Amino acid sequence: MSTHISGQATTAREQSRHDDGKFGQQQYARAHDVDLEGADHVDTREWPDGFDAHTAKPIEFDTQLHVEHQALAGAHTRLEAARTQIHALARGGRVSDGLEPGEELSDELAVAEAIRLSATLGTPGEERKAPKAARLMNERTDATLAIATARDRVDALDDVYRNRGSWNRAFLVANANGHVHSSTDCSTYRSTTQYAWVTNYSGADEDTIVQDAGYRACTTCHPSAPLGDQSNLPTKMLTDEEKTAAAQREQAQATQEAKHAQAAANAPTATGEPIEIRYPSGKKTYVETLKTERSAQQWATNHLIDDAEQQALDETPNLDPQKQQIEREAAQRVLDALAEKRGVDRTEIAEEVRGKALAKAKRDHKAVVSMR
Ligand SMILES: [Zn+2]
Repeated sequence: MSTHISGQATTAREQSRHDDGKFGQQQYARAHDVDLEGADHVDTREWPDGFDAHTAKPIEFDTQLHVEHQALAGAHTRLEAARTQIHALARGGRVSDGLEPGEELSDELAVAEAIRLSATLGTPGEERKAPKAARLMNERTDATLAIATARDRVDALDDVYRNRGSWNRAFLVANANGHVHSSTDCSTYRSTTQYAWVTNYSGADEDTIVQDAGYRACTTCHPSAPLGDQSNLPTKMLTDEEKTAAAQREQAQATQEAKHAQAAANAPTATGEPIEIRYPSGKKTYVETLKTERSAQQWATNHLIDDAEQQALDETPNLDPQKQQIEREAAQRVLDALAEKRGVDRTEIAEEVRGKALAKAKRDHKAVVSMR
């Protein structure tokens, strides 16, 4: 059970904290900002049934905190999407005309333009943009409020975590050979670092974390961690991608094994191997492969009919004697193999093949007669 928070989302979150509770949209602040000082964003959402932050076990607590982190990251993503679309809507409109060459459209101007369009204060022909502008402004407000709500909940849990004296946590950087860190602010992180919060190690003692992290233990976070690699310090902590890849490998192997098992079960021999009949042809060899009991028995049946027809012909047989010899030997092998596979006497198989050959010959004979 590993869970993800985006390192970038955390960066955005931390930036938002520097904005005196305005939750980060300082560029918007001067232009019709959402009023977060009001009661709109008071968190009325209940914690899940049975969850008490003051008594929850570390794993349960951190799992809930992760849910709140995801809500926060999701709200940031929504706000950024609204911002991008508001810019797209405003660009090319008349606000862009006032810009110096090379000057970027500011968030303030873009929002002001969206408000103007949403109020259908635009020039004739701009009315069709009003619904979209209104929708984007609403989305921007909703996302900003959602950020505030999620931020409150994360802060509340963070406070409880500190008051309870904190516990060990494990964060796994989500790339090949990513390290296991004890917090989300290790000095080895870069701004783009993505990590998975391995919440099932929350509250574990450090020795357990270091041991299970193996070669992945960050030596900055865990100075006691030994240095090694995958071969001498294997890890028990895998990223979701690694788990998925491992599961896919296992699945592919199981499918392959099932396929082989099915082929062996169908095979004409007790060992599961097919029967090969090799015909030399000049310098090459033509190989006929009988993969199933059914195909082997059919082959033997057809051979018996062909052989009988050859012998019944008055004139010189038209089969080449070498081929005939090969097929006669092969027919013996097929009968032996089927008898062994089915655990019956060879004569029983020979009788069965003979019976089928006779029935088929009769059918074919009728067909021949009816053609006349
Ligand atoms: Zn670290």
